Amino acid sequence: MAVVVLAMKETAPGERRVALTPETVRKLIAAGATVLAQRGLGDGAHFADAAYVEAGAQLVGDDALPQADVVLCVQAPPTDAIARLRPGAALVGILQPDAEPARADALRAHGILAFPLERLPRTTRAQAMDVLSSQAGMAGYKAVLIGAQLAPRFFPMLTTAAGTIRPSKVLVVGAGVAGLQAIATARRLGAQVEGFDVRPETREQIESLGARFLDLGVSAAGEGGYARALTDEERAEQQRRLAAHLAGIDVVVCTAAVPGRRAPTIIDADMVAGMRPGSVIVDLAAETGGNCAVTVPGQTVEVAGVTVAGPLDLASLGATHASEMYARNVQHFVSLLLVDGALAFDWTDELLARTVWPQVPATAPTSGAPA
Ligand code: NAD
Repeated sequence: MAVVVLAMKETAPGERRVALTPETVRKLIAAGATVLAQRGLGDGAHFADAAYVEAGAQLVGDDALPQADVVLCVQAPPTDAIARLRPGAALVGILQPDAEPARADALRAHGILAFPLERLPRTTRAQAMDVLSSQAGMAGYKAVLIGAQLAPRFFPMLTTAAGTIRPSKVLVVGAGVAGLQAIATARRLGAQVEGFDVRPETREQIESLGARFLDLGVSAAGEGGYARALTDEERAEQQRRLAAHLAGIDVVVCTAAVPGRRAPTIIDADMVAGMRPGSVIVDLAAETGGNCAVTVPGQTVEVAGVTVAGPLDLASLGATHASEMYARNVQHFVSLLLVDGALAFDWTDELLARTVWPQVPATAPTSGAPA
């Protein structure tokens, strides 16, 4: 019998993305799966039910949940929906099981084989499945557009009959995937852009985008290409130099993160007060606490004449393209589970073994049969 893959309609507030698109329906069917899409699945991202049907999916309601062998989502489903999945079903999405004890309990209690995609090792082979990268790209892009919208200035230099306008100065804090996309976007809008990061290898990446690397005298390269947390002395030095520099910046886009921890506070209230009135801070890290001390997640506030935005769900603002990328990431991951049209779990594959939560089950299923 064909493997049944079901995509769930998202229920989290503000979530417009979707884990399945008509394009990936076709690919999953070609891999031998039967594909079920919950009615209205793609509404938030502008993929119509009719497009899913045309691609070969069957439209279903909540009653189809127990039929699914593999369940696709963006954010984790509510616990009552988890309870309706069949024991042994594979659940694939940005599940963050440790963020919510009730969710973790439901996944364990119902014997769900959870694959939180944020746990994927960031190896070359996993790049096509890397949801953190694909979604961060959209977030970085949208953060700059929000900054341009809130700024009372042009980004580009203009020479007009009414005189010359100097270009805005944009500083991007953190040059990971989101930060590099923010730098590229701000450059395309004509701003003078600087980027800084504690990982020294970002200098070349920032400069290759035509921006200037802001050297604050601190290097914190850590494991696996990520940043490590700074020591107190390193942080103090970074803060001192940054405070002086911020006084000349028009728009700051904050994207700094340390995996599994609260985002580091980099811009304190005194630094905000030292910025020119009309300056803007867009804190993309708001979701994990924010890089700016005065950020209010989900709100735009004015502090000492500086506009500070803490947007959430940035990737959802570009839901169509973000979903196209996310759904391809998911389809590549699910293809690891589909061998000759049947469900198979190769626990010697590190992409499966390191992603499954909480760990490879003791009585690990190697096929689609319930554990
Ligand atoms: P992230 O979202 O965890 O962090 C964003 C950035 O913030 C990072 O560049 C980090 O160095 C920086 N940062 C942390 N603390 C800081 C501080 N105090 N001050 C300034 N900057 C700070 O990172 P990400 O974007 O998900 O990925 C980071 C890097 O991981 C990538 O740039 C890349 O090198 C690597 N990566 C590798 C692969 C792969 O090989 N498949 C895929 C994705 C990312």
